[in-house]
Amino acid sequence: MKELIEQAKHIVIFTHMAPDGDAMGSSLALKHWISNLRNTGIPEYRNIESIHVIVPNAFPAFFNWMPGSAQILIYEKEPQRCNTLISEADLIICTDFNDPKRIGPMGDKMLANPCKKILIDHHIMDERVRGLVDEGFWSEIHSHPEASSSCEIVYELITNDGLRITNEIATCIYTGLMTDTGNFSYNSTRAELYDIIASLLRAGAKKDEIYNAVFNQYSTDRIRLTGYALYRKMRIYPEYHLALITLSADELERYHYQIGDTEGLVNMPLQIADVFYSVYMREERPKPGTPKARIRISFRSQGDRPVNIWASEIFHGGGHMNASGGELFGTLEQAVALFEKSFKNYLKI
Ligand code: 5GP
Ligand code: MN
Repeated sequence: MKELIEQAKHIVIFTHMAPDGDAMGSSLALKHWISNLRNTGIPEYRNIESIHVIVPNAFPAFFNWMPGSAQILIYEKEPQRCNTLISEADLIICTDFNDPKRIGPMGDKMLANPCKKILIDHHIMDERVRGLVDEGFWSEIHSHPEASSSCEIVYELITNDGLRITNEIATCIYTGLMTDTGNFSYNSTRAELYDIIASLLRAGAKKDEIYNAVFNQYSTDRIRLTGYALYRKMRIYPEYHLALITLSADELERYHYQIGDTEGLVNMPLQIADVFYSVYMREERPKPGTPKARIRISFRSQGDRPVNIWASEIFHGGGHMNASGGELFGTLEQAVALFEKSFKNYLKI
């Protein structure tokens, strides 16, 4: 990793669409780390002239407080500026995804630049993505599906180099650990994780403040939308231990939906005894010039009940065993019909 950074002049860091806490935390921690390397005046890093974090689309307002978030470039808002930075980059670092499709149109721009590329991720690779690896697309790969989060991998990379975890880095990494484990309620049984947390706290991460900044700053509309979704829109299929919530674009607009407002909603039905699977569908208005709406679908499950195969085979997505996503272009009714037709083949009852 350090060897590639030493050779680079213009570095861009990418993370996935609809960035979550781990995407934000890992990309910003990498940026702070590389900026620190440059600022220490070590001759090897004098070459570095620019470091940018670019995300495909906007991130939720509850990450606005994160150190470095104000400098993040949003591809959808500034495509031309981002295209120039991507084509001029001589090192691209991708974190928290492994499939160029997860960064939308930025993916094609990345494929068009033959520069060195580093992958840092904790998702399982599907076959198509493994093809890229076999082709030698990545110069360096840090792929650890057993890790709680990409932030955990970034932590290991920094400390293996014997470098200091600054307050900013600790704050970013703690955010990703906290959000990707549902506040340490899943993917978080390995004792080593708590050694990392202890060192992040020593480095100045303010655990309770981070929790408050992410989870206790919602709008009234968001809470009312959650209430509406659970009260009026949640369907239970008791014999299948399955819950489904759908929200149309009209319903979302009624509650002045902002990006991130239904983050976490899909997990709530799992609080019901005997519900082991939960699916949430959200309708987005069609983009100008495109006839069909996009239905974004989230899948969650508990225990040894994979949802990623279902997400990938039926809804063009994928993800982790217990948390996956996918999409469908069409109507909510079509998505629900496909869901009802397919679930019997994918649920372990
Ligand atoms: P969410 O439901 O929070 O949007 O996504 C849950 C998880 O599913 C993400 O952390 C990501 O790992 C995975 N995921 C979501 N959408 C996709 C997708 O379109 N493709 C793949 N491969 N994984 C996805
Ligand atoms: Mn992650």
